[in-house]
Amino acid sequence: REELAALLSEEVGDRAGGWDLAGAIPLETLRRLGTEGVLCAEVPAEFGGRGLSGLDNGELTAHAGTLCSSLRSVMTSQGMAAWTIQRFGTREQRAKELAALTRGDLAAVAFSEPQAGSDLSAIATTVVDDGDSVVLNGHKVWSTASAYADVLVVFGRYQDGAAAVLVPTRAPGVTVRPVPQPLGCRAAGHADVLLDDVRLPATRVLSGASVSLGLLTTIALTYGRLSVAWGCVGIIRACLTAAATHARAREQFGKPLAEHQLVARHLAEMYVAEQTATRLCEHASGCWDSRSAELSGASVLAKHAAAGHAAHAASAAVQILASAGSVDGGTVARAYRDAKLMQIIEGSEEICQLILAERALERVT
Ligand code: FAD
Repeated sequence: REELAALLSEEVGDRAGGWDLAGAIPLETLRRLGTEGVLCAEVPAEFGGRGLSGLDNGELTAHAGTLCSSLRSVMTSQGMAAWTIQRFGTREQRAKELAALTRGDLAAVAFSEPQAGSDLSAIATTVVDDGDSVVLNGHKVWSTASAYADVLVVFGRYQDGAAAVLVPTRAPGVTVRPVPQPLGCRAAGHADVLLDDVRLPATRVLSGASVSLGLLTTIALTYGRLSVAWGCVGIIRACLTAAATHARAREQFGKPLAEHQLVARHLAEMYVAEQTATRLCEHASGCWDSRSAELSGASVLAKHAAAGHAAHAASAAVQILASAGSVDGGTVARAYRDAKLMQIIEGSEEICQLILAERALERVT
């Protein structure tokens, strides 16, 4: 893990602000990280991956989050795609497709549609058998990393259930339209994807059979939630470092900002946020590594809490840096925009709360 973290630090350097302003990460950077297996480091060694545990992959993801949330978002997408292939692919599909993802191919995941946001049961994309082929039609929105991707994991209706299909972005009928000027994670390659009579070999359907849509999305989203939660830990850590550094160095009213108690309270709250989010992520990753039945709930809890803490911590950091933090592309200004989006993706605040409320109610049944 240390070696991969050092590679991330070296590749990002001081470039994250520039990528944010430009709205893109250089493709060669992503390819290099992909080839080293950093973008989906949990893929087992037997498939060419780094075979990191959930906990180590989580800390690596947090490290990426301290450096650049756009890059961390690309990691989340690549990891979620790899996990979906690992979980649902046949032996042949796992061997071929996971090897590609650890050799530099880039992947994205496409669930959301214009009428299927929080409610994924409304997915309308169709996957229809036609001899040895399948034909896809649909409209996906806001797919992170799609603008960079070689392959999309597309979720659609198939036979009497659903399927995830590996769709090359270069296949005829696929149009990738980048989302113009997203609020945050501006260099994460968000794009809408149009699928117009996309004909592919039937071997591109993961598992080759239909599965329940709820199972498919829950399993993929569990990886995504855990990854986003760790990414939020990274945002909080970056904000805490920036705020504490500034509060020590900057003097007003004859003493460092840190010695003004109202500023110190912001720092204390950010520290609590970092510790709390980290512990919840460690717990959820522990559930992942031990294949605990608690995993699904633990990942929702970690994502919900970490995203909320990241949004508050980023806001507090901008407050402490004040004019010095109010520069577009700067660490805390980026964090402020990026963190807000973490409260929307992989289950919004409200959707997470509904799931957590169910857990609360289970206690008295
Ligand atoms: P809506 O579902 O329309 O919700 C609008 C508001 O209503 C929200 O606040 C929501 O919480 C609330 N709401 C909805 N239903 C309820 C309810 N039952 N009770 C209470 N409140 C409710 N999608 C992908 O497929 N792949 C990706 O890689 C991806 N990446 C993304 C990255 C970013 C930065 C963003 C912003 C989005 C991304 N998405 C992606 C889409 C994302 O999953 C959806 O935006 C998210 O699920 C919310 O859907 P929506 O935006 O349509 O909002």
